Amino acid sequence: MPEGDSVWRAAAQLHAALAGQQLLSSDFRVPRFATLQLGGWTVNEVVARGKHLLMRLQGPADRTPAEQDRLTIHSHLKMEGTWQVYPPGGRWRKPGFTARCVLRTAAADAVGFSLGILEVVRTADEDSVVGHLGPDLLGSDWDLAEAELRIRAAPDVPIGVALLDQRNLAGIGNIYRCEACFLSGVHPAAPVSTVAELPALITHAKVLMEANLSPGRRTTVLNARGVPVGRTPGRPGYWVYRREHQPCLRCGTPVRRGVLANGAGSEERDIYYCPVCQPFPAASADS
Ligand SMILES: [Zn+2]
Repeated sequence: MPEGDSVWRAAAQLHAALAGQQLLSSDFRVPRFATLQLGGWTVNEVVARGKHLLMRLQGPADRTPAEQDRLTIHSHLKMEGTWQVYPPGGRWRKPGFTARCVLRTAAADAVGFSLGILEVVRTADEDSVVGHLGPDLLGSDWDLAEAELRIRAAPDVPIGVALLDQRNLAGIGNIYRCEACFLSGVHPAAPVSTVAELPALITHAKVLMEANLSPGRRTTVLNARGVPVGRTPGRPGYWVYRREHQPCLRCGTPVRRGVLANGAGSEERDIYYCPVCQPFPAASADS
């Protein structure tokens, strides 16, 4: 699964290429929308909502009744998906048979490859596709208290599972899940009820994602001023993620990999943690 920052960057790139542009043609290579033709429609904006991409379009005034002149192309990258922007008629870097959506304008072609979800809904009905999401860590309407409330509603769920549940809060994938738990000294399998500093843990995830909105290698190793120092060649980019058997950057203990059930995708069942910095909570005296 992508992390929310990848989707945010994809939305920013697509917005820069397409916003204000009229589509010369559209080509939806999925059965449900194979006959849909959005040539003449104008892209108003492209935004990310958690890990979902929303391209909002406006119909040609002379042809579209006002009540249905706003459509949203909703996509989700899932495991392998990507959107790429090319100069008009430019040669694709991915195999043509994996293309699911081709949008052509006078300025650029945008091609969505291997998209996990691709559908077109009325903009007024966007809630039917993203309304279930919790507060968006990178959204302008981010609400820490609401995210904490949603997570706390299921106190027995492992914190590592709760962080990936996009209904609680939207945008975290496996990397930020593991790294935020490390920075908070919390074992990813610990039940939510044992995590006293939940707001701080969530805030770690948000700060790490925001530090990675600019281009460059993703890293969670920041200095005290929030500058990503983990981009330096030869330095580890992550504290624990995919660093199994390597020494913890804080205490030197070998990092461990474990499996957390109830995770979404198979790749997201893997957790990485330092057994010393992130001890599993001891049973309380009265249990
Ligand atoms: Zn450690």
